[in-house]
Amino acid sequence: PVVARFCPSPTGNPHVGMARTALFSWAFARHHGGRFVFRIEDTDAARDNEESYRLLIDVMRWLGLDWDEGVEVGGPNGPYRQSERMDVYADVAQRLVDAGFAYKAYDTAEELEERREKARAEGRPSGYDGLHRDLTPEQQQAFEDEGRQPVIRFKMPAKDWTFDDLVRGPITFGAENVQDFVIVRANGQPLYTLTNPTDDALMGITHVLRGEDLLSSTPRQIALYQAFAEIGVGDGSTPQFGHLPYVMGAGNKKLSKRDPESNLLGYREQGFLPEGLLNYLALLGWSIAEDRDIFSLAEMVEAFEISRVNPNPARFDLKKCEAINGDHVRLLSLEEFTERLVPYFQSAELVDDPITDEQRAMLSSAAPLVHERTNLLTEAVAMLRFLFVSDADFTIDETDRAKQLDEKGLDVVRAAREALAGLGEWTTESIEGALRATLIEGLGLKPRLAFGPVRVAVTGSRVSPPLFESLELLGRDTSLARLDTALA
Ligand code: GLU
Repeated sequence: PVVARFCPSPTGNPHVGMARTALFSWAFARHHGGRFVFRIEDTDAARDNEESYRLLIDVMRWLGLDWDEGVEVGGPNGPYRQSERMDVYADVAQRLVDAGFAYKAYDTAEELEERREKARAEGRPSGYDGLHRDLTPEQQQAFEDEGRQPVIRFKMPAKDWTFDDLVRGPITFGAENVQDFVIVRANGQPLYTLTNPTDDALMGITHVLRGEDLLSSTPRQIALYQAFAEIGVGDGSTPQFGHLPYVMGAGNKKLSKRDPESNLLGYREQGFLPEGLLNYLALLGWSIAEDRDIFSLAEMVEAFEISRVNPNPARFDLKKCEAINGDHVRLLSLEEFTERLVPYFQSAELVDDPITDEQRAMLSSAAPLVHERTNLLTEAVAMLRFLFVSDADFTIDETDRAKQLDEKGLDVVRAAREALAGLGEWTTESIEGALRATLIEGLGLKPRLAFGPVRVAVTGSRVSPPLFESLELLGRDTSLARLDTALA
């Protein structure tokens, strides 16, 4: 059975690269009917924080990438926060030392640096030279007496390392490039190099999918699994590895955590649908078919073959991401679209929480007017704001005012106000009839010049839903009042 995992470190805001990794691991697990484990790698007390942990949980739930085992939900191999597993790592490190797979090294930073310099100058590999590998107990004692605190290093067997990457195919690291590495710091803190493979082994992970930046740690981890098999950590097997391509941002540079488009929470704030964002993230290295961009998560799960992930760097294109989201918005039924808008209207403080029946009725009537032209849910909020805002909060975009409500524009507004004030019934059709008769036929204006000023006066912006429908929804009193305000 397949067991895949997502195991971020909770530092800073969750970012797009993390979500892509989570999505691919999740889809892989689901495709194979396997289990998906969500672990938190928070062993670095100086950088990890609770806020970031909360946001990770929150964003995973928002995305809908559910996990069978892990933080918050528990499972047979918990706890799933590494900060709660320190005794496990101390025990594994000790067993590695006892069995001769790891050793205490007492080199000071200066000594290491000096030897590294020398190796570089002589054109030798500059990794750890193994000097403290075979210290006698007496030599160790002598260092201890000097007050030196040892790190624990893993003893890399001197051989080349080849493994079959699920994405890239066979990869070989020469022995000279993988030297003995630190697994526990001098202060006793275990490092990622130890904690990550230990937990993957103990949690029965069969497939490790992660970013290409971690490729160079893989031979070390494979060596650790071989040692684990000897000392009885896990079931003795080594997971398969797949390294997902880099994501490139603007200027063909690697998308960095600090780039604004990396901020996952920003996507939710702007009104991306989780299914739209996930669809786009899936395209960062994978495709369902050559001529097809839009698919559901269920379709992705059905079709997801890890061997079809493209190892070449993927380009992050925000415009395309928005367009794909727009396609998903349009796939929503009107009821669903309205439902998804509610929290965005609430955060904009345009409706109550919970929303009143009257507000919901207005939103249901208004949603069809913008459904087709919404890519991000906040765009719908901006376009429909004028229907929900109180008179006191209603404002007109200043650029639009300057362009549309000049002297000529105000004449149009005045004529429109007169035409509308006399209307018997207030419907889209009667409004349209009256405005056309007065402004187009009567004043001989082109539609753009006729309706632009009216639109800006009642909606506050040139970007708004169809005018006659908007006026009907806004109602006679408010519409006339807004025209009056523009004229005042
Ligand atoms: N905590 C590691 C990270 O966030 C996990 C890497 C891995 O998947 O092995 O980079």
